[in-house]
Parts: sequence; structure tokens; C-alpha cells
Amino acid sequence: MPRGGARLLQGGPIAAEIRGAVSEDVATYRERHGRPPVLAVVICGRDAPSMVYLHQILRGCEKVGIEGRLVEIDGEASEAALVEAIRALNVDPAVNGIIVQMPLPPTIRLRSVVDAIDPAKDIDGIHPLNAGLLRLGYDGFLPATAHAAVEILRRSGIEIEGKRATVIGRSAVVGMPAAFLLVRENATVTVCHSRTRDLARHVKDAEILVVAAGHPGLVRGEMLRRGVVIVDVGINVVDGAIVGDVDFESARRVASAITPVPGGVGPLTNALLLAHLVRAALGQEVQVEVAEVAEVVEVAADAAPDAADAPVVAARGPAGSRKTAASTVAVRRVATASPSASRSASRGVR
Ligand code: NAP
Repeated sequence: MPRGGARLLQGGPIAAEIRGAVSEDVATYRERHGRPPVLAVVICGRDAPSMVYLHQILRGCEKVGIEGRLVEIDGEASEAALVEAIRALNVDPAVNGIIVQMPLPPTIRLRSVVDAIDPAKDIDGIHPLNAGLLRLGYDGFLPATAHAAVEILRRSGIEIEGKRATVIGRSAVVGMPAAFLLVRENATVTVCHSRTRDLARHVKDAEILVVAAGHPGLVRGEMLRRGVVIVDVGINVVDGAIVGDVDFESARRVASAITPVPGGVGPLTNALLLAHLVRAALGQEVQVEVAEVAEVVEVAADAAPDAADAPVVAARGPAGSRKTAASTVAVRRVATASPSASRSASRGVR
């Protein structure tokens, strides 16, 4: 442990590195499409903290050349109106990613909204399909905060494999996905929540501690194992100041490394959201191309039903027009590339 206290795991420099890679991808996308990728941010009603978060996201988009599109829905609007607005964004080919600002008005069921988002545009990983992919260890979209909590460890060179990790919090957007990600990194993980008996014992046991409870001062220095690495995800306002869930001053005297609040997980969350958006945009390019190949094959089968392996000579364009054989070949070549191996500068971001 460094003399004078724990090493600070700052999110800012890592976020800058990720934004640099995202900017490169955005430039490539813009060259190919003549327009920037688009992130739609849906907000239903004006909740003060979510307005602050919203402006941070839009500023982040601006910095890297992504077009941030604010979709404001009246706070009095019905659930059906909100779902309809999301469905319109799903089918808008110019929109590459969608996030819906939480919290929603109490009259609107979260599940209806979450289910309405196209999983391919769900860049904050809240749709059940993406949650399931994470659970099964496949590549989907990760919830950005949970992703940031683990990415800050990886990019700071903290060894995760084989470590005992305790996660405090089991929400669908932070605690549980962070736990699954830590398992994926080969940590041995304990998840704690408000009904956990003897939280102190699980905290003391942890070599890596991720705290996402929304309770300032929940974890104090005397509860910790010496040398623990702490990721404090909490964001709380106490006496006008933003603090985490961990009592920073007492914890930094015992921990070997700790994320500050603010300045730790927060900046990285925003940068990763942008990286997810670019990944969505590049993935959608491949999807469109694959869909076109499917049409090509269909046309070929129509043209020569008795010759399943016959070479493809023509393709139908989006409006039913015929394409040339040359463009068909080009489409085929691109479609054989795996979507997960997209030609992305930010591919280092998992
Ligand atoms: P949440 O949905 O309220 O979940 C909180 C979790 O903490 C629940 O699982 C809850 O247990 C558990 N918990 C609460 N009090 C506890 C206690 N005394 N002991 C043990 N567990 C306790 O909150 P969230 O959305 O996951 O967010 C968690 C924190 O992260 C909040 O402070 C939020 O502001 C912050 N956050 C930060 C970022 C960022 O970018 N840094 C982004 C999103 C959220 P039960 O399940 O039993 O209720």
C-alpha cells in the first residue's frame, strides 16, 4: 500500500482514453454514412437529478461528435405514449442507441418501458435480452455503471482473478451486473443487500469491495481488510456535497486503492455509454448487410428453386429494386465479418 494512504483510481484519464477511441470510430462512421451516429435520450418528466445526468450525457456526445437527440415526453403522458415514442425510435434507422432516463413517473411501469427498447439499440443494457446475455457470459450491451465499476479495476491494472470480491447492492442495473462481470473476470463473488445478516463480516472478507447501495457512510475504514481495493459506485448528496457510500477518509487509510467520489466511476460510466453507442452503430451496419444477404439468398432461391447452391446473381434493394452482382459480392464479403469483431478503435472496451 502506498505511504500516506490508498492509491486513487481516477476515472477521468481512463474516460479520456476511451473517448479518444470513440472519436476515431465516430469519424469513420461519419465518413461512411455522411452523418454522425445518433443517441436518443428519452426523458419523461423533469426530475432534477436526472436532468443533470442528461446534460452530462449530451455534453459527452458533443465532445466525441455523436449527435445527442433529446426526446422529451410530458411527465403526465401515459405509459402507452412513452412506449410508442420508444418504438418509433426503434424503427428510425438514423437512431443507433436509446437510453431512457430514470426514474420514471410512478404511473409508468418500468418493465413496459424496458421491454419496449430494441435490444440492438439498448446501449445501457437494461433489456432482459442483454441482461440474459451477460448472465450467460455472451457479449450483449452491459449496463454502463456496472461496466465502469469493473473496467476501472481492469484498466488500473488491479488483479481480479482468484480474488474474493464482495458487492454491496443487488440492483438490476448496478449490483448484479457488476457481480456477474466480476465472476467473468474469475473473482469469487459475494453479493450483499439490505437483508444480508452480518454485512461487516462479508466486507471484512473482501479483497475487492464494490459498493452500490446509495447509503453514505455505509462502509467505514474499521470494517475493512487491510489492502482491500474499493470501488465506490454510490452517489449521494450530503450537506450540498457529492459523496459515495464509503467513508473516504477512514477507508483510504486501510485500502490499497479506492475510487474517489466524484471522479471515479462516474466519468467512466459516461465514456462507456458512448463506446456502447458506437458499438451499436457499427453492429447495426453489419446487421443491415446481413439482412441484405438474406434477401439475396431468398431471391436466388426464387430464381432457381432446384439449385440451392447456385451462385447469387442479383439482389433486391431496400425498396425492392435490383442490385448488381458486384454490389451483391461486396455485401457478402462484409457480412462474413463477425459483428463482435467490428472494425472499431474502441474494441479494447469489452
Ligand atoms: P438501488 O436500486 O436503490 O439499489 C440499492 C441496493 O443496495 C439494493 O440492492 C439494496 O438492497 C442495497 N442496500 C441498500 N441499503 C443497504 C444496506 N444498508 N446494506 C446492504 N445493502 C443495502 O440503487 P442503484 O440504482 O443500484 O444505485 C446504487 C448507488 O449507485 C446509488 O447511490 C446511485 O446513485 C449510484 N449510481 C451511480 C452511478 C454512477 O455512474 N457512478 C450510476 C447509477 C447509480 P435490497 O435489494 O435488499 O433493497
